[in-house]
Amino acid sequence: MPELPEVEHVKRGIEPRITNLIINDVQFSDAVHSGKANNKATIIKGTTIEQFTDMCVNYRIDSVFRRSKYIIFKLINRENIQYMVGHLGMTGAYFVVSSIESIPVLNYRKHWHAAFSLNDGNKLIYSDIRRFGELRMMDEAMFETFNAQIAPEPFSAEGQAHYLSRLLLQKYQNKPIKQVIMLHSVVSGCGNIYACEALHLARINPNTKVKALSKKRKLLLYEKIVFVLEEGIRYGGSTISDYRNAEGESGTMQNRFNVYGKKVCGTCGHEITTKVIATRNTHYCTHCQK
Ligand SMILES: [Zn+2]
Repeated sequence: MPELPEVEHVKRGIEPRITNLIINDVQFSDAVHSGKANNKATIIKGTTIEQFTDMCVNYRIDSVFRRSKYIIFKLINRENIQYMVGHLGMTGAYFVVSSIESIPVLNYRKHWHAAFSLNDGNKLIYSDIRRFGELRMMDEAMFETFNAQIAPEPFSAEGQAHYLSRLLLQKYQNKPIKQVIMLHSVVSGCGNIYACEALHLARINPNTKVKALSKKRKLLLYEKIVFVLEEGIRYGGSTISDYRNAEGESGTMQNRFNVYGKKVCGTCGHEITTKVIATRNTHYCTHCQK
């Protein structure tokens, strides 16, 4: 599954190429049409195809930004503002190309699902091989509600205070810290891979109950979460998640992992322990992490 750094790269890849352009038309794949016809919302969630089309055609793409692991397109026309909220699922990808045939990777060319025709002659295309991703159209009120459920961005000034205050909530005290930092109401966009790596750098065993952590260790962990996410962005994300950017390329962050997907610890060489915590495979070193 693409994590925050991968999503940030996807956003950076498409943002300068589509901002301020107008959506003239939108087309959907046969899979989207037949999914909708069979009451299975394939990719397009929450609206009919007709509603979705009305909420984007003849709108200008005012801005493109990331919230947690979502890419958000703010769309404006004379009267309205709409937000198209996209999640890449497992294998989602965007391409800005002159035609569907120009998508550089065969599998993504075959599995395109939404193609937005822009007024510069290009198309913004959403492809998704396994179809776990989604595009959801929201009006301003819906977007506000959605946005309020997600913690401030980890790189923002408010992120740390928000995290500390959430870790004091009674309902989290007996939960493993790993499970809690992966909640997007606590930390925005800390997925499984980066949670494992951050816990390793903070030398915290992922099974540790929240109540057992001092404020100092909580702060150290937050610092490491921000660090690994920034590193992930710097090194273009990882290929582990099957992710490709708008050019069909992937990053090298996986070469910097110490515990995730490793047999031995990158810090000390001790054997890595793998354990399921709250349904997610967790990798850690019992020698380094107490
Ligand atoms: Zn170790």
